[in-house]
Amino acid sequence: MPLFPSKFISKLPTVGISIFSVMSKLAVEHNAINLSQGFPGFDCSPELTALVNKYMLKGHNQYAPMIGVKELREAIATKTAELYTTAYNPETEVTITAGATQAIFTAILSVVREEDEVIIIEPAYDCYAPAVELAGGKPVFFQLNPSDFSIQWAEFQKLINPRTKMIIINSPHNPTGAILSALDLQKLEKLTNKTDIVILSDEVYEHIIFDGYEHQSVARFPNLANRSFIISSFGKTYHTTGWKIGYCLAPENLMAEFRKVHQYNVFSVNTPIQYAYAEFIQKKDLYLQLNDFYKTKRVFFNGLFKGSKFTFKPSSGTYFQLLNYKTISNDKDVDFAKYLTVNHGVASIPVSVFYHKTFDQKLLRFCFAKENDELEKAAERLNKI
Ligand code: PMP
Ligand code: GLN
Repeated sequence: MPLFPSKFISKLPTVGISIFSVMSKLAVEHNAINLSQGFPGFDCSPELTALVNKYMLKGHNQYAPMIGVKELREAIATKTAELYTTAYNPETEVTITAGATQAIFTAILSVVREEDEVIIIEPAYDCYAPAVELAGGKPVFFQLNPSDFSIQWAEFQKLINPRTKMIIINSPHNPTGAILSALDLQKLEKLTNKTDIVILSDEVYEHIIFDGYEHQSVARFPNLANRSFIISSFGKTYHTTGWKIGYCLAPENLMAEFRKVHQYNVFSVNTPIQYAYAEFIQKKDLYLQLNDFYKTKRVFFNGLFKGSKFTFKPSSGTYFQLLNYKTISNDKDVDFAKYLTVNHGVASIPVSVFYHKTFDQKLLRFCFAKENDELEKAAERLNKI
C-alpha cells in the first residue's frame, strides 16, 4: 500500500530490523542450526507450566494490578535482599514488566529528556540507543577495551559532564560474556557520587555467571542502588524467553516516575504467569544452580572448538560465547555470519552490529543454551570450514 503523500520522516532513520530477527529468519529459511538469537533450545520446567495452568484454572485471568501481583513483588524483594542485601519495598520499589525490554524502555522514557546525555557502553544490547533517541536524549558511546571487554574508567570518566543524565551498564554482558567486578562498581560509585546521574543496570543474566565469580548487582552498593533502575527478566532464568515477564527495582522516587510511564505503556502484565513465578521462585535451588548448568554447557561447547581455527576466550557469564574467525576469513562479520548460515547451516550474530559505528573484530556470538547434540552438530559443521 503506498504511504500517504510522503513528507513522512522516520523518528529512527538509522534503525532497521533487529539483527536477532534477521538471523533467526535466515536460519529458518536455510534450515540452519540457530545459535544466533539468544533463547534456550530446551523447554522450561513442566512444574512451572503446571503452575501457570493452576492459576488459570483458579480464575486469575483478568488484569493484574498495574504494579504487578503482590505475591510476586514480595518474592522478588525477599530474593533480592537475600542475594544482594538491599531491601526493596514491594509496594513502592518493585514493578513487574513485560520483559526486560519494556522495563528498559520505560526506565529511559521516565527520566531522559530532550538533550540529556546517556552513556551507553559498546558493544551494547540493541534496544538501549533507540529508546534514548525516542526520549529525545543523546546517546554518548563508550567503547569497551577491545582485548578483554573491560571498562577503562579513566577514559570513561571523561564522558561525564553536567548533561549526563544516565549511564547504562549490563553485567553479565551481552554480547561479550564479560562481567563487571566489585571494583568496577566501586569506581562507578565514586564517579557518580555527588552527581544526579541515574544508573540503568541491566542484570538479566544475573544467574548465569561462571568460574566462581559472584554477580555484582548494583543492589550490593547502597550508593549506586539509591540512583539505579535494576532490570531483570525471568525469561533467562527459567527458560521462558517467550513469556516476556521481567521486573524493575528502583528507589521510590525513581519508581514513581517509572510507574507513570508503565501504566500508559502496558498498564499490567500477564496475571497467571505472575502468580506461577511467585510460587516457583521459592525454589531457590533452581536459580542458584543455573550457573553450574550453563557452565557445563559453556565447557562442552568450547571443548568442541579445541584445535579449531576459531579462537576464543571463555565467556564469564551469559549463555553466549564469542568465536573469532580471523584465521579463516577476512570477510566482514555480518557477511561471514550470513555465509555460515546459508552455506554451512549454522546461524550466529555478528558482533559489529552492537556498535553504533561498525567495529569489526571478526567476532561472532553463538548461543550455547542448546541441547548438546545440537551444539555438537553445529561445531562439526563449523570445524569443517
Ligand atoms: N537485556 C539484555 C542484555 C538481553 O540480552 C535481553 C534479551 N536477551 C534483554 C535485555 C531483554 O529481555 P526480555 O526478553 O525479558 O525483554
Ligand atoms: N536478547 C536476545 C539476544 O541477545 C534476543 C532478544 C530479541 O530477539 N530481541 O539474542
